[in-house]
Amino acid sequence: MYQDIITYAKQLQDTCSGYRRDFHKYAETAWFEMRTSAIIAKVLTELGYEVLTGKDVCLEAARIEVPSDEELANHAQLALAQGAPAEYMTEDMKKGFTGVIGILRCGEGPVAALRFDIDALCLIEEETSNHRPWAEGFSSMNHGMMHACGHDGHAAIGLGTAEVLMKIKDQLHGTVKLIFQPGEEGAKGACTIVANGHLDDVDYFVGTHIAPADGPDDGDVTPGTYGSLATNKYDVYYYGQAAHAGGFPENGKSAIVAAANAVLNLTAIPRHSDGITRINVGTIHGGTGRNVIPEEAVMQIEVRGGTTELNHYMDEQARRICRAAGDMAGCECKLVPMGAVESQYSDEDFLEEIARLVETHLPNLKVSSCKNALNWGSEDISLMMNRVQEHGGKATYMRSMTKVASPQHTTAFDFDEQVLTAGVETFAAIVYSLLSC
Ligand SMILES: [Zn+2]
Repeated sequence: MYQDIITYAKQLQDTCSGYRRDFHKYAETAWFEMRTSAIIAKVLTELGYEVLTGKDVCLEAARIEVPSDEELANHAQLALAQGAPAEYMTEDMKKGFTGVIGILRCGEGPVAALRFDIDALCLIEEETSNHRPWAEGFSSMNHGMMHACGHDGHAAIGLGTAEVLMKIKDQLHGTVKLIFQPGEEGAKGACTIVANGHLDDVDYFVGTHIAPADGPDDGDVTPGTYGSLATNKYDVYYYGQAAHAGGFPENGKSAIVAAANAVLNLTAIPRHSDGITRINVGTIHGGTGRNVIPEEAVMQIEVRGGTTELNHYMDEQARRICRAAGDMAGCECKLVPMGAVESQYSDEDFLEEIARLVETHLPNLKVSSCKNALNWGSEDISLMMNRVQEHGGKATYMRSMTKVASPQHTTAFDFDEQVLTAGVETFAAIVYSLLSC
């Protein structure tokens, strides 16, 4: 059967490249992934999957940083004009309820969930002849939205995997959930899917991320990762009192003074002896004119920690300082949460099992010399993994290694598409190994 899986995956190279280039060309950022979701829903439905979309995927109350109704409506029109299949563009999807879950029920047995994130980044893609997507005509048509992290590839791997699993479904016993997650960037999407309970019955959970291979030692598959930083993000608003800066300054309460005090004191949070901590004030805006005491200011801040506990320490300090800085300037402080991620670990026995599976049954792929790699970023897959592990399930977050043209999150990012079928093969083989006995 493993040989069949390798063959099926290889046959899908052009199909997967096609999906990837299509998603790349019509890149969509968080909650705008309407065309992407409609296409995924169509493909899964036609393959024979039970398909969840709209509010059945993401819990409405858990969504954050949702664009305005007008922005969503405009994008829905654009998505249709760019060829989104109209019959799969539901009313909810047009309102930004993106993301799709495909379910394959094969009788009694464990539940395996695979996660593929599908969102693009807010970046303007490079338009030069040595950037392949531009040279070959599939660079982003949506200005300011670009797949620069490889999630177009993840979506393509998900659809390829769906096709292979459907071919081998008679050999499977249990349930497969293919989770196509919106809004990974900025940690917006996973929490809404977790909040809807989709991970509560999952026994085995696997995700992957396309990652740059440094050399031949890196192999093709890193079966596990650990340690991604826990993080909390906030928009911090200060509301003061406007006044004439020359005439009656005593009547004013400066929101900029509040924000400035917050910035200095946030960066002075004592570092923790237990491990990694981070703080960043990314943006700050305030005021209306030179001679007006500024009434409003807003900052985008984030804290991170090497563990969920260390992040909690930074979070408590940061919130206290933000509020106290407001008090000092007589301003009201409002903290609006903008995403949170926990730290994450892959189950050792599960990732070892995957390493053995690749070594034994997938001779065309090589396991990385480091089987469990350290993650330095933050990834909201941690929320899904932690939910599965909390009730005794096994989880791992892999890496699919490939050559890249430029680092992730840069405007010239591109990758070798061979990784797509390698990903399909790995996922399909893992599901087969879990559900065939
Ligand atoms: Zn990513």
